[in-house]
Amino acid sequence: MKPLEERIASQVSRIPRSGIRDFFELVQGRDDVISLGVGEPDFATPWHIREAAIYSMEQGETSYTSNLGLLSLRESISSYVEDLFNVSYDPASEILVTVGVSEALDLVCRALLNPGDEVVYHEPCYVSYCPSIVMAYGKAVAVETKVEDEFVLKAEDVAAKITDNTRMILLNFPTNPTGAVEPVSELKKIADLAIEHDLIVVSDEIYCELLYGGETGMEQGEHTSIASFPGMKERTILLHGFSKAFAMTGFRLGYACAPAVLTEAMMKIHQYSMLCAPIMSQNAAIEALKNGAGPVEEMRRAYAERRNLLLKRFREMGVPCFTPGGAFYAFPDIRKFGLSSKEFAHRLLEEEDVAVVPGTAFGEAGEGSVRCCYATAYDKLEIALDRIAAFVSRL
Ligand code: PLP
Repeated sequence: MKPLEERIASQVSRIPRSGIRDFFELVQGRDDVISLGVGEPDFATPWHIREAAIYSMEQGETSYTSNLGLLSLRESISSYVEDLFNVSYDPASEILVTVGVSEALDLVCRALLNPGDEVVYHEPCYVSYCPSIVMAYGKAVAVETKVEDEFVLKAEDVAAKITDNTRMILLNFPTNPTGAVEPVSELKKIADLAIEHDLIVVSDEIYCELLYGGETGMEQGEHTSIASFPGMKERTILLHGFSKAFAMTGFRLGYACAPAVLTEAMMKIHQYSMLCAPIMSQNAAIEALKNGAGPVEEMRRAYAERRNLLLKRFREMGVPCFTPGGAFYAFPDIRKFGLSSKEFAHRLLEEEDVAVVPGTAFGEAGEGSVRCCYATAYDKLEIALDRIAAFVSRL
């Protein structure tokens, strides 16, 4: 019999397992470990949202929905997106409800890429970007962003990677894993590049509610979507979801907003592979959009306090750390300790029972940093920081 390994499709053999998952298998079952690892709110979903899911089940709403998602949810998404991003999408034809932004990203790549088409994206980045492109037979072209530039994606660096085969630019602001927020002036230049080279822009804005403005980071920062610039709505696929700001990771719900032709192409794949997103999650999401602003702001303020604690403590330890403007990640620079990011993370776990993610889990450009997720209770974060301080004092 032919070895089973040889039966795996070459596209799948080529992609690595997620560096985050690999690392977290080491942590499984160790109660003593404080994890700043997985990028997930420590809050349970606000009760009124959970209640809406329970109520919908009580009412016997347990069926499939339209492939695009419940029309009432798409209408709510349309108003929410218009308020937040200043772009208007037709609920009937320009919004597709998906199983998380993860599915939306896969749909974008499969619907738009032909073999060999190139996608330019910034690195360090969310772990699934490169694999999603590769699994759709595309070519992933990374542009490195650097701590020295506060992880700003420079339009000139994007321009340098554009070839005749480039089809898409994939953006994520605020960024996982760095917490970077793109200056509007640079975002505008990237939009101009997309128009000049006739490229589609995929903009993953899943963290856009979690921005830390003002002197202290306690104020809500302002978000600008690339889709809102003149001439951009027609070439942008905007991805957003409920996992982060609404603390709804387990509901598995996201959406793509795009011109009708692109929405239809993505819907075709979604219809055959997923059929629709779960109806209970969709009902919960309607409630989240209707009455969730208060709890989202409370969680954002809690993250802002934790972010400030983390920055203060890293500064005291002499560990350089870029001030993240959004999301719930810090990406301290550990180069001065002379360890690779993997060695640093492994030793921190072994010696002090604190889990952080090696920067290289987010691409080669992440070497020299580790990702610390501060969606972790304040008191636990304080203990984790004491342990990190003890660890770095010995290096
Ligand atoms: N995009 C980014 C930038 C993320 O950080 C994540 C999750 O960590 C996702 C997408 C996936 O989110 P979802 O839970 O909506 O699939």
